[in-house]
Amino acid sequence: MSDCLFCRIVAGEIPSTPVHETDRTLAFRDLDPKAPTHVLVVPKPHHADVAALSDADPALLADVMAAAVAVARAEGLGDGYRLVANTGADGGQTVHHVHVHVLGGRGLTWPPG
Ligand code: 5GP
Ligand code: ZN
Repeated sequence: MSDCLFCRIVAGEIPSTPVHETDRTLAFRDLDPKAPTHVLVVPKPHHADVAALSDADPALLADVMAAAVAVARAEGLGDGYRLVANTGADGGQTVHHVHVHVLGGRGLTWPPG
């Protein structure tokens, strides 16, 4: 999908700062970080949100989650971290290519603001 921001990042058409890559996933730093570590993990194929990915390719959803854990370990988030997949309008999703936020490096309150 050439009009999808994260497909274009996966394709290298838009620059990003990658921190982890597998054959089917890419992780890169969020442009507007909400915590000292804020990384986005995406599947390389386009799926709109976590529900669509779960329906179409649950093994790839598992790969995305495993990549998020690998990022957290590589970033040294031993004191804990948060994985978030905003889904749909009420979930606050703004980019409609499924992604998992890896947030950490400070104490995170719950619920978020
Ligand atoms: P959402 O609100 O959909 O869960 O998260 C989208 C995230 O993408 C936001 O945290 C936003 O800062 C990030 N973002 C938006 N545009 C870009 C971009 O061009 N590059 C990167 N690295 N992150 C982006
Ligand atoms: Zn896409």
